[in-house]
Amino acid sequence: MSFPGGGVEPLAAIATRVRACTGCPLALGRIRAVPGSGALLSRVVLIGEAPGATEDRCGEPFVGAAGRLLTELLGGAGLDRSRVFITNAVKCRPPHNRDPRPEEVAACAPFLEAQLEVINPQVVVTLGRHAMARLLPQAGMISAEHGRRFRVAGRTVIPLYHPAAAIYDRGLRAVLEQDLRSLAGMLEAGACG
Ligand code: URA
Repeated sequence: MSFPGGGVEPLAAIATRVRACTGCPLALGRIRAVPGSGALLSRVVLIGEAPGATEDRCGEPFVGAAGRLLTELLGGAGLDRSRVFITNAVKCRPPHNRDPRPEEVAACAPFLEAQLEVINPQVVVTLGRHAMARLLPQAGMISAEHGRRFRVAGRTVIPLYHPAAAIYDRGLRAVLEQDLRSLAGMLEAGACG
C-alpha cells in the first residue's frame, strides 16, 4: 500500500488498521483482532489460519495449544520464535473455530499483503491448507505439497502442516519436525531459492 510521505506503511500502522477493521462479519464476534507479532526485520514470515480462543483473548497469534507446539518445534529445529514474524491469513477468530470462509480470507488479504510488503521476507511459510490456498492457489493437497519450495513474486513459499493437526498425531508431528529442520538448514545455508 502507498503511504502518505512515501515508502511502505509501518507494521504498527497495519496492526492499528487490523484492530479497527469491520470489513467482514468476524469483527462482530471477536474479543481482539490478532494482527501478528515477531521480528520486524525477519527473513521468515509464518502464516497460520486464524486465531483460536486463546489468541482471541490475548490478541497474539499462536499462544494456545497449537502455538505451544509450534514454539517447541521451531526451537527444536534451531529456529527461535522471537526471530520470525507470525501472523494469520484471517486476523479475527471464526466462531467455534470453524474454518475461515473464502470471503473472510479475501477480506483480510490486503492486511497480509501489506505485512509481507513491509517485512519483505525471503521465505514465507504457510501453516495448513487455508494459508497455503491463499499463497499457492495452484498447489494440490497439503499431504503432497508440504515441505516443497515454490517461488512466488520473488519469494520462497513453503507450505507446511498446521501444528494443530500435529498435536495428537505423532506421524504428522514427525513430518512437521522434519520440514522445520529442512527450513532451518535452508536458512542456515542461505539458500532460499
Ligand atoms: N491457529 C492458527 O492458525 N493461528 C493461531 O494464531 C492460532 C491457532
